[in-house]
Amino acid sequence: MIPFRDTYRDIPLYSPAKKPCRVDLSDNTNLFGAPPSADRVLREEGFLRLARYPAGYAPDLKRAVARYADVAVENVTTGCGSDDVIDCALRAFLEPGDVVAFPDPTFVMVPLFARLSALKPVPVPLRAGSDLDLDLDVEGLLATGAKLIYVCTPNNPTGTVASRAAVERLVDRAPGVVLIDQAYVEFARGGDFLDLARTRPNVLVTRTMSKAFGLAGLRVGWGVGSPSLVAEVEKARGPYKHTTLGEAVAVSALTEDVAWMEACAAEAVENRERLRGGLKALGLEPLPSEGNFLLVPVPEARRVGESLRERNVNVRVFEGLTGVGDALRIGCGPWPMMASALKALKEVL
Ligand code: PMP
Repeated sequence: MIPFRDTYRDIPLYSPAKKPCRVDLSDNTNLFGAPPSADRVLREEGFLRLARYPAGYAPDLKRAVARYADVAVENVTTGCGSDDVIDCALRAFLEPGDVVAFPDPTFVMVPLFARLSALKPVPVPLRAGSDLDLDLDVEGLLATGAKLIYVCTPNNPTGTVASRAAVERLVDRAPGVVLIDQAYVEFARGGDFLDLARTRPNVLVTRTMSKAFGLAGLRVGWGVGSPSLVAEVEKARGPYKHTTLGEAVAVSALTEDVAWMEACAAEAVENRERLRGGLKALGLEPLPSEGNFLLVPVPEARRVGESLRERNVNVRVFEGLTGVGDALRIGCGPWPMMASALKALKEVL
């Protein structure tokens, strides 16, 4: 018998495999496509870069992020997707057995990463306000005694945002690191916490090139925090988690394609609200959202999701979400895609 790790015995392989559909609204990417400069970089420089290792610790990418985020290079860490930055942070700051707390529901990879690092994931229900405006249960999160508290805002899958006051209270009182995942912040009205990452010693903000920047296939994410936090995350990650091509394209996108990204995000948000109107007309009540997606409570979500797939529309199905129940998460982008989703839903419901 090969002595595998005990910790892993009951952990299933996370399998995002999905049936290909013509209209895929299941992963909140930029449905308008990839940034324009990517094409040039890949055609003109891509091949030349292949035979060399990337520079360790992605110095060009860090400089581009620092300029874009208006922080010092020493405040920046990067990873193979923001997934990787989150995973490295858990390993960097916690010992096996330590508690990681997070609002529930939230990004599904967080409890999984915690378990894979022999940490103890402790979900704390998002507090439901009067109009389903979900905010953080600050006291509940602190009461877990967690050495790392993860907060996602705008939150996946609800789309809801944490209030500035709640986040600040959490950061003031948390005994360890507060990791603020802002994968969807480009779609939100404000709610950017980079200033806290710059000024508070216990805040790490993570961001990604996968969503608004349209580069999910590149696997590039980044984090901002105090230089001492960042140095620990860099240790956990090691030097070579980027490809030369990924770094080059991410640099050009952050430098040349910000206006393009903002235009895509604005259109996604406009269409999200138009989609909300269409869903309401079908008798559905989507949650308030500041991401590029809507979470729509729907009974028997699995069956509905399967029927949508038969009509070539893929959305993300959730069953039994805390405080929400069954729901569909619908990514937002060009209106013809939204119209296809609405048409299919009308047939299915
Ligand atoms: N955080 C959140 C909230 C997400 O929804 C996702 C992707 N679904 C990620 C992080 C990870 O994205 P990536 O690794 O592509 O940066």
